[in-house]
Amino acid sequence: MAIYLSAGHHLKDSGAVSNGRKENGETIKLRDAILNFIKPEYKVFTDNDNETLSQYLNRIKPGNGSVVLEIHFDASGTGKASGTTALHKDNADIMSVRFCKSLTDAASRVLRINNRGAKSEKDSHRGSLAFVHEPGINGLLEICFIDNKEDMARYDTNFMLLAKNIAAVLMAYDDLIK
Ligand SMILES: [Zn+2]
Repeated sequence: MAIYLSAGHHLKDSGAVSNGRKENGETIKLRDAILNFIKPEYKVFTDNDNETLSQYLNRIKPGNGSVVLEIHFDASGTGKASGTTALHKDNADIMSVRFCKSLTDAASRVLRINNRGAKSEKDSHRGSLAFVHEPGINGLLEICFIDNKEDMARYDTNFMLLAKNIAAVLMAYDDLIK
C-alpha cells in the first residue's frame, strides 16, 4: 500500500504552454510541494522529471491497495474556461470516483474556482488516458486552466495551501484502504 504521485509531462514534453508558463514546470513544482506535506509514515512513489509516462508506468507496480494521482493543468485555447476537473476511468470503482470528487472539492475550495467535478474518460472527450487504468484508487487532477490568467493568479496566491490540501486527500484515502 502506497501513494503514487506523478507530475503530468516531463522535461522534454512541456504539455500546455500559455502566457509564458509551461504545464510541465507547474506539475513538477506542485508535485514536489505536495510531497513535502506527506507525513513520513506514508510510503510514496513518484516519477522523475525525465521519465515519460510509459517509462513511469512500467517502473511502478501500484497494486490494488494504492492511491494513484497524476497532476495536470487544463487548457481551453480561448483563455476563458475556468475551474478544476478530475478524471477517472469509465466504469471506475466508487472509491476512485469519490477520490476524484474529493480532489476537485479541495482544489476548488482552496482556489475559489469552479468545481467541474469528476468525469470519466468518455465524458472528458480526451479519449483513452493511460494513467487512469492503473489499479488502485486512481485519478488524474486538472488543477485549473493554465491559459486562464485569473485561475493561475489564484493558483500562485494559494499554492502552498493547495499542496497541503491535496496531500491531505492522498493521506486520507491511503488511510481508508489500510
Ligand atoms: Zn497535461
